[in-house]
Amino acid sequence: MDKAKHVFDNVLQLIGSTPLIKLNRMAADIKGEFYAKVEAFNPGHSSKDRIALHIIEEAERQGILTPGDTIIETTSGNTGFSIAMVSIIKGYECILAVSSKSSADKIDMLKSMGAKVYVCPAHVNADDPRSYYQVAKRLHEEIKGSIYINQYFNQLNIDAHYNSTGPEIWEQTEGKITHLVACSGTGGTISGIAKYLKEQNPDVKVIGVDAYGSVLKKYHETREFDDKEIYPYRIEGLGKNLIPTATDFDLIDKFIKVTDEESAHCAREISNTEGLFVGYTSGAAMQAVKQLSEEGEFNKTDKVVVVFPDHGSRYMSKVYSDKWMEDQGFFDSKNEVHTPIEYI
Ligand code: PMP
Repeated sequence: MDKAKHVFDNVLQLIGSTPLIKLNRMAADIKGEFYAKVEAFNPGHSSKDRIALHIIEEAERQGILTPGDTIIETTSGNTGFSIAMVSIIKGYECILAVSSKSSADKIDMLKSMGAKVYVCPAHVNADDPRSYYQVAKRLHEEIKGSIYINQYFNQLNIDAHYNSTGPEIWEQTEGKITHLVACSGTGGTISGIAKYLKEQNPDVKVIGVDAYGSVLKKYHETREFDDKEIYPYRIEGLGKNLIPTATDFDLIDKFIKVTDEESAHCAREISNTEGLFVGYTSGAAMQAVKQLSEEGEFNKTDKVVVVFPDHGSRYMSKVYSDKWMEDQGFFDSKNEVHTPIEYI
């Protein structure tokens, strides 16, 4: 569809059909052709628009949701924003239980999109009645006509990407894709795309990106949950301290881990070289590509698709703040991308 000539009924009709953009500079010295699936082009600026719309419309199809009902989720991030956006258009109440660690900016952003936000203490166990998991569960039980999205444990998260992102990538590469590189959080993105691509061509190699401090890579290799892998890290949206059922580990060929520091520099490098203002995990995915290339993963004839999940504007007080980078001690790096400001 030619978006320039079409008049849309509402903003939700713009979800999906995101562009695949060739990476000309970031991948100049790497064997193969590299393309970014730029999910910031969704109207809510992230891939989570797809799952919010799919899960809510599936509940409507099943007659579980009718206008005026309530949609509940535990997130201050992209998923919360997307659910709030879909809720406004479709006439639902949106309740988001978030951690007190969430920035004031994020909470204000969700409120601007009409969501009711419950701020829950960050440093309590998941089974404490004050935790955001328990608050969401309780509200779901108490509010008649409510659904709980529960993205880490919802199969519809995988289906959303199986139905849309996967077929888009297959068509955009004319079936010539050889590798998919995608960050794994809930695992919905990588699993849904992988399922579709491997049905078309089982030889497509699927590589998941995980964070140091997360259990996913170790679980993939051993099928055992190892809590010794868990420690704090800064990248948001990537990796996890539990095993999500929205990840189909059998569809992922391997995982690779990336550091907070290298991923942050990589995000800044993408903006500075490709003119694509993308989020922290886009940097993580591209950092993974660099490491994979050093391991000899790619050949000259390969066509590699890297998923860039969201927009850089969500990270103004993090990777795009020189002060934040300095506070983390990230400016000692030889990879530094630091554009000076001149005051007149
Ligand atoms: N990047 C960002 C910024 C995210 O918010 C998420 C979602 N947690 C991901 C990557 C990972 O996507 P998924 O949850 O589908 O694995």
